[in-house]
Amino acid sequence: PIAIAVATTQTTCPYCGVGCGVSASMKQDGSIGIKGDELHPANQGRLCVKGSALGETVDLDGRLLYPKMRGADGNMRRVAWDEALDTVASTFSAIVAEHGPDAVALYVSGQLLTEDYYIANKLMKGYIGSANIDTNSRLCMSSAVAGHKRAFGEDLVPLAYEDLELADMVVLVGSNAAWCHPILFQRIARIKETKPHAKLVVIDPRRTATCELADLHLPVKAGTDVWLFNGLMSYLAHRGARDNAFIEAHTNGLNEALAVADADCADPATVARICKVDLADLLAFYEAFAGTEKVVTGFSMGVNQSSAGTDKVNSIINCHLITGRIGKPGMGPFSITGQPNAMGGREVGGLANMLAAHMDLDNAVHRDIVQGFWASPRIADQPGYKAVDLFRAIEDGRVKAVWVMATNPMVSLPDADLVRRALEKCELVVSSDIIEKTDTNAFAHVLLPALGWGEKDGTVTNSERRISRQRSFLLAPGEARPDWEIICDVARRMGFDGFHFDGPHAIFDEHARLSAHRNGEPEAAVGGAAKSRRVFSLAGLAGIGKPQYDALQPIQWPVQRLSDGSVVGTARVLEDLRFTHADGRARFVATVPRNPANQTSDEFPLVLNTGRVRDQWHTMTRTGKSATLANHIPESFIDIHPQDALLYGVREGGLARISSRWGAMVARVQHGGGIPRGSVFVPIHWNDQSASDARVGALVNPVVDPVSGEPEFKHTPVAIEEF
Ligand code: SF4
Repeated sequence: PIAIAVATTQTTCPYCGVGCGVSASMKQDGSIGIKGDELHPANQGRLCVKGSALGETVDLDGRLLYPKMRGADGNMRRVAWDEALDTVASTFSAIVAEHGPDAVALYVSGQLLTEDYYIANKLMKGYIGSANIDTNSRLCMSSAVAGHKRAFGEDLVPLAYEDLELADMVVLVGSNAAWCHPILFQRIARIKETKPHAKLVVIDPRRTATCELADLHLPVKAGTDVWLFNGLMSYLAHRGARDNAFIEAHTNGLNEALAVADADCADPATVARICKVDLADLLAFYEAFAGTEKVVTGFSMGVNQSSAGTDKVNSIINCHLITGRIGKPGMGPFSITGQPNAMGGREVGGLANMLAAHMDLDNAVHRDIVQGFWASPRIADQPGYKAVDLFRAIEDGRVKAVWVMATNPMVSLPDADLVRRALEKCELVVSSDIIEKTDTNAFAHVLLPALGWGEKDGTVTNSERRISRQRSFLLAPGEARPDWEIICDVARRMGFDGFHFDGPHAIFDEHARLSAHRNGEPEAAVGGAAKSRRVFSLAGLAGIGKPQYDALQPIQWPVQRLSDGSVVGTARVLEDLRFTHADGRARFVATVPRNPANQTSDEFPLVLNTGRVRDQWHTMTRTGKSATLANHIPESFIDIHPQDALLYGVREGGLARISSRWGAMVARVQHGGGIPRGSVFVPIHWNDQSASDARVGALVNPVVDPVSGEPEFKHTPVAIEEF
């Protein structure tokens, strides 16, 4: 039969941070038609294979449809919502009463919608009174957040996707955009079609699919990015590429940062040796960067997921500051986020060291602003545990109850066996999820069924600060409910006001009003070193009603309302070159190069690098349902250089076991992934639900960046042997 579309809904893809618009059509035969939304500025009608297969991932197989609780016999049994919610609220309240607010925690996700995130953060920081709410976005972009804050005074992305098309050179660092941000990569590819002189430089230890389009690939040794960018800064400084007028008018700290860069990296030959790249290639990159005004440097997980991640980010930003290449069309440093709503979580303070509306937990004035707006009984004044530390705190009993929302830390966190031990010991593990059987849910005491993509309503913010609506077009299955509603129900049962909302529009309105509350006060009013100006603002959307929210078109913050009532967003947020530090200037940060925390040894001679493959997403709870997506790569693998395979006695197509000090896994050996000698690459997606001993997270060293807390996923010493 011919499937006829009966209704079309404009929504947003739930996968990567590109944030593509999706037109979803319910058809008369019950199937779902998925197309790219031609009016969405992020993708202009295009979708990658993951987005195109969304219709194959929304069936109810494996869905968690009813609240469940673990009985005395260890088995899960279906319970009424009231019983589940009462149990969560009363146990959280009892633990807080006995041990204090820091004895409970929320561990949330970049999969949550902004409204869900806002409510979770409000409950934890304003009502329970602890900052123990962290997110799997900690694993993805927290180094970028910390780097932005150090350089700009605020976590802001200073450009937009259109700047990629305006650039004459795009540098991608630690980013396999061809696989991980395909639609953004297509936009980059188009530059080369329309501007033959435009250059793409890829800096990545692996020769990935992204390199196929590159004019230059620098296969930098893992972990040496700071040397490379300090060397670039030094080169720019001493070869006439400085923008002295910009530096004088808009920055601080150049001398200190440059002294550090010059100390180790003034000689390109030394940098080439340390980074293990060809000197001529390195100089070609430095010359091209120096000679090209319109440069965008995009960076992603290869930069962020490092024990020096924040310094790597700042070493990149330093090169844009010294050349004045920021805030203007076609140039700037660009953090490409991994998740659909990593940015939205940042906006509402969904990290253990942030407050809502991009305000700072360690700033008394900001705490006063947020608490005053919420009229909340308390406000957290100490940072909570960041992701890795949170599970350590659960394991040693400091945290006694955890509520996990929309994420699977048993698979995704480093040293994932520690997560297992932590959850086994935890007095109460609550999990809000759409899937019943996951590695994490096997340890839950209470399972709360949440709505999934296509069923829930709210907003997400993509890598270029663009807020888009996710809209529902499917009925809520079973007894599943929106996350924000579940959290509000628990909050009210704990005796808290401030959690009465009649829909996500009302939460978004509160979020927008908070962003505008006392924003832009003169410095004297906010005092001392507090910020005099906060760029993040949704002031133009404050007071939004349900009809306007339902019709909201994709828009970039900051958002202003014009005198005719219309609202406008902002593509280039730093056009006035006024930064958010109290003096309005950007900061050069002195970045002292340092090696990854753990080095290879005779026992563990290879470096493990982890990442995504093109057609899977996170722990595969959704993409794993699609036969189309499974066609690309059907099982996990260990990619190793053929000579290393010979050296260590493993053969292509055979099973091998890799092990580290923290754990082990088994997968099939392959070559051809562009992996350099001395390392192996394993995808992050497969888990013990898909094949036993397939969790690469069990091997990853649990070392983190000292500033951002982001784990070093890209550099774990491992051994390999035939299985
Ligand atoms: Fe979805 Fe990202 Fe693909 Fe766009 S590029 S369709 S947001 S997975």
